[in-house]
Amino acid sequence: MSVSQDPCAKPTLLHPDDALPKLLQQITTLEATEAVALTDALGRVLAEDLSSGIEMPPFDNSGMDGYAYRFDDLPQTGTLKLIGRSFAGHPFTGKFEPGTCVRIMTGAEVPAGYDTVQMQEQAQADGDNITLEPCKKRGENVRLRAGELAIGQKVLTRGSLIRAAEMGVIATIGLASVRVYRRVKVAFFSTGDELRPLGSELQPGQIYDSNRYAIKGLLERLGVEWLDLGVIKDDRESIRHAFREAASVADMVLTSGGVSVGEADFTKQVLDEEGEITFWKLAMKPGKPFAMGHIGKAVFCGLPGNPVSTMVTFYKLVLPLLHKLQGMQPVTPLQLQATLTSPISKKPGRVEYQRGILSRNADGALTVCTTGSQDSSQMSSMHSANCFIVLEQMQGSVAADTLVTVEPFNSVLC
Ligand code: AMP
Ligand code: MG
Repeated sequence: MSVSQDPCAKPTLLHPDDALPKLLQQITTLEATEAVALTDALGRVLAEDLSSGIEMPPFDNSGMDGYAYRFDDLPQTGTLKLIGRSFAGHPFTGKFEPGTCVRIMTGAEVPAGYDTVQMQEQAQADGDNITLEPCKKRGENVRLRAGELAIGQKVLTRGSLIRAAEMGVIATIGLASVRVYRRVKVAFFSTGDELRPLGSELQPGQIYDSNRYAIKGLLERLGVEWLDLGVIKDDRESIRHAFREAASVADMVLTSGGVSVGEADFTKQVLDEEGEITFWKLAMKPGKPFAMGHIGKAVFCGLPGNPVSTMVTFYKLVLPLLHKLQGMQPVTPLQLQATLTSPISKKPGRVEYQRGILSRNADGALTVCTTGSQDSSQMSSMHSANCFIVLEQMQGSVAADTLVTVEPFNSVLC
């Protein structure tokens, strides 16, 4: 029995993995950079390599609360004379003497002459006489000067996204400001005569415009500057006007709706006149009628109007394009294998990004099921999902208990 093919798949449609490098070729990273205070740098992209101007740690210090001693002084359990203390920010000011120890706290300087720290749980104090269980090796619990970073050592490369960890790394080497790429500006609008603003009463045939809110959420999380141009009617001149306005201020113009082949789908037509469409339609589901091109100096991305298609094409295609625009190093999505807990029906022809729920079963193995209906109009499937189940182009239906590829969502974005 022959497997029926996906009627929307055409041999000319490009696989999204093959299309992405071609889409990326059309993106030129912004040239402009600016210096920002580290406190304002979260979510920005570093426009310079950063090397450390200091040693880290700057001095030998203790990794434990305990006693600093000289390893050779204590071949067996023995008692050492306590001659002082070294606390964080308050180093020991005395001089090393054989057969002695210094009370030391985590992060405090290990005084010259001492080379090992025994944790306080392995010590017994009787006045100034400290009996220590000897450490197994010299240097135990001592974090050596420059053990993490030498002067001149590279700590971050250009194109790194500054997240909380990078904020910490930059502060560790004492930089109060960094050079970052200027923020990308994205102007976006929805198209559709059926779309109504929130707060209005729906008339027959109307729905609320939800895509603009999902897009705004994604853009805001990405830290780009955005301009919301609202809902534009399915009317050539209104769309033309919106395109011109958007392209005059933005690096990227993002639209949702109107890129398929319906009679009121003017986005593509107007763009053919005002700019250039270089890509249209991909072998993916949802999201086949994704369009890309340019209008003036701005990159254009036309997302299909079905809400799930809008988010999926943003996630799989617009995100890497935005990353490149803002100078970020490419991110390879993490893919895992998980066992499908219920069957999935699919026709060969397009790559599918089904919305899935990834979890662990009682044995600790990764399992995944779909969120239910995969109709691309049902936005709630993006809400319930925590991953895409990626089903390859020529793959047909998948039986339960099969291993499938899953791509966990970036929990900050979705
Ligand atoms: P289109 O891509 O314009 O043909 O729209 C495809 C489907 O998505 C239609 O059912 C539209 O009503 C719906 N749609 C388009 N834009 C939006 C939007 N901004 N919010 C919610 N649904 C939309
Ligand atoms: Mg429409």
